This record gives sequence, structure tokens and C-alpha cells, in this order.
Amino acid sequence: MPTLEKMYSMGHEEVVFYADPSCNLKAIVAIHNTILGPALGGTRMWPYKTEDEALEDVLRLSKGMTYKASVSGLNLGGGKAVIIGDPEKDKSEALFRSFGRLVESLNGRYITAEDVNIKVEDIEHIFTETNNVCGVAIPHGGSGNPAPYTALGVFKGIEASCLKIFGDRSLKGKVVALQGAGFVGRHLGELIAQAGAKVFVSDINEKNIKLFLEMIPSAEVVGVDAIYGVKCDIYAPCALGATINDKTVEQLKCKIVAGAANNQLAEPRHGDILRSRGILYAPDYLINAGGLMNVSIEFEGWSDSKARRMVDTIYDTTLEIFRIADKNNITTYKAADMWAENRIESIRRIGSRYMGVSQHRFPGRKRRNLNS
Ligand code: NAD
Repeated sequence: MPTLEKMYSMGHEEVVFYADPSCNLKAIVAIHNTILGPALGGTRMWPYKTEDEALEDVLRLSKGMTYKASVSGLNLGGGKAVIIGDPEKDKSEALFRSFGRLVESLNGRYITAEDVNIKVEDIEHIFTETNNVCGVAIPHGGSGNPAPYTALGVFKGIEASCLKIFGDRSLKGKVVALQGAGFVGRHLGELIAQAGAKVFVSDINEKNIKLFLEMIPSAEVVGVDAIYGVKCDIYAPCALGATINDKTVEQLKCKIVAGAANNQLAEPRHGDILRSRGILYAPDYLINAGGLMNVSIEFEGWSDSKARRMVDTIYDTTLEIFRIADKNNITTYKAADMWAENRIESIRRIGSRYMGVSQHRFPGRKRRNLNS
């Protein structure tokens, strides 16, 4: 489908393609919806094989951010960026500063942050060129890496799911199959193990498995394909999206799917299959919103305790979504979509007051000083 047609059918407002050969930067920014506020969503760096693959990813991810902000009660819209490149070889200060200039040129309609393969150091380079960036280092007025807060939110979602399925929120004695030993996976693994559950983990990256085992020595490593078939209470996808697909959905031997990865269902019908198999699905964008909540309060002055209080609300919101799903006899992903869409539609009807300018945010915070 041509790009404009794709944007039109998915409801995107704007997609920006950007190239800077001087630093080997190829990037796409997708702004999905700004009715609730400026579009906030991280930047992902990935060695996409084709431009189409990168476009597909950024369109799906940015739409997910609109729903995530809405269901979380945040006054933010949805957006996302992708940089096409190999994070091991192609990162440079110049690349991220050039990307920062692109973000600045959008005049506050899009605010970026960390996503897969983007670290606080990279964000700091972006911050040299624009104020429209979150997840900035704590000494520079930011909140640092959002992953621990994302993990905490996912943990709250898992607790809510346990209450629904087992009648008790505690994870003591439960078995969790965790896919992806990255930033979020490691923090989540730690919380799960501390709560008294057994963790099985898989990753394609040996280095991250080693880091995982240093943090959670009791964990057991399983093969990349074997993780789907682990007999467990909870399957927690914390790697990339679309891991619940035609090939894997019938392999799952769990009672709950609840993890951090965005776009876990390859297609909505896979959510229907989970339901028909009696597996409770905690919608991804609902329970992985902790990182977004955390960075969102950089606008007004971040504190760890405030971020944790916000992230705690994911427990109640998840239970509410389960209640809506039961009441309407629909899947949990449809219930979350319904909630998110209703909120956006109701605010659209009263007229959005978001002006698309950045001066009102980050009071007192200046762009990063080159010498600091
Ligand atoms: P990360 O890059 O640190 O970790 C991802 C891990 O998944 C890596 O270790 C990678 O090797 C592994 N992986 C990739 N393919 C795999 C496969 N087929 N099987 C097993 N492991 C595989 O990223 P992260 O920050 O931990 O984020 C993890 C997921 O959570 C992503 O989907 C991300 O979009 C989502 N998410 C992250 C945040 C955040 O705060 N970082 C917030 C919301 C959602």
C-alpha cells in the first residue's frame, strides 16, 4: 500500500522521512495523533533490512503510543521514531545530534525518548540540539533510563493478572517464562524472582543472558524457540513485537500473557485465539506504560517517588480493563482499545487545546549546555 494510504488507514497525522549523508543518518518520525497532547514516543535503532520494514514498524509503534498515553490518562499523543542502522557500528555523536535537529524542527509536535538500542548517552546528544526529548540524564534535569519503571509497571500488570486468574496477586511459587534479557527484562526478572517466582529466560544475545544471570542467579536459561513451550503460569514477552503469531500461539502452555514488548499480537485475531484457549492477555500498551509515565513527568519536575506512585496505578487500571472485557464479553485487547479510543474521542469533541508549541513545557529546563 502506498505510504499516504497507509497513514490514512491507520489514522496518522504526519510521517517525516529524514536523511543526512554527512553522518549516515536515515530516520523516520511518525506522529500518529496529537489530540491529547504532543506526540511522545521513543526512538528505536534497528538494522531494518528494507525501508518498508522500518516504515511498518514506526507506523505500528506510534499508533500504539497514542493508545498507551490515552489508557494511562496522560495528556500526550502518540509518536515514535526509527533510525535505520546497526547500533553496534553506526552510532555517533554527529548522528544523534543531526537526529536532534530533526526533532527540534518539529517544534514540539513530537518528543522523543529511549527505545530499543537507544541509551541515555545517545539521548544526551539529542538533548544538545533540542529540548523536546525525555529520558535525559538525571544530573541534566531528566529521569534517566525508563526501563526500571517500565518493568515495575509490567510487574503490577502481572500481579493484577494473577489476582484475576488465581484469586491472589502474589507471585510466590509461580513459574514465569521471560523472553528477552534486555534492560526491561532484567529489571522485571529481578522483581519476579524477589516475589518468589521461578524464572525461565531466553535471549538471542549471550551478553545479555550473562547480565541477567548475574542479577538473577536462580534463573534457568532456555532456547530461543523453546521459551514458548515452557510449562508456566505467565509468559512475559520482553523482546520484540509480534511474538504471539500463528507459529507460537498454540505452543503456549501458560495461563497469562503479560510482558513489556510493544505490539505482542502479530494480528488482533491472535488475541482472540488466546481468549479461546483460556489464556488471559494483559494488553501490552496498558501494562508497559510505566516508562512513559516516568518520562512524562519530566515536564513538571521528576521525582522517583512520584514516578512510582503513577506506575502503581497500572494495577488498578489493568483490573478495570479486565472488568470491562468481562462485562461486554469481549477480549481484553478490545476493552483497552475501547477505553483509549473513547477518551480521545471525548476530548476531540470538546476541542483540543494543545497548541503544538514547546515553550510551555519543561519550565526552567534549558537545552543541554555543550560544556556540561
Ligand atoms: P533491549 O534492547 O534492552 O532488550 C531487548 C532484548 O530482546 C535484547 O536482549 C535482545 O537480544 C532480545 N531479543 C531480541 N529478539 C529476541 C528473540 N527472538 N528471542 C529472545 N530475545 C530476543 O530493549 P528493552 O528496553 O528491554 O525493551 C524490551 C521491549 O519492551 C521492547 O519491545 C520495547 O519496545 C518494549 N518497551 C520498552 C520500554 C522501555 O522503557 N525500555 C518501554 C515500553 C516498552
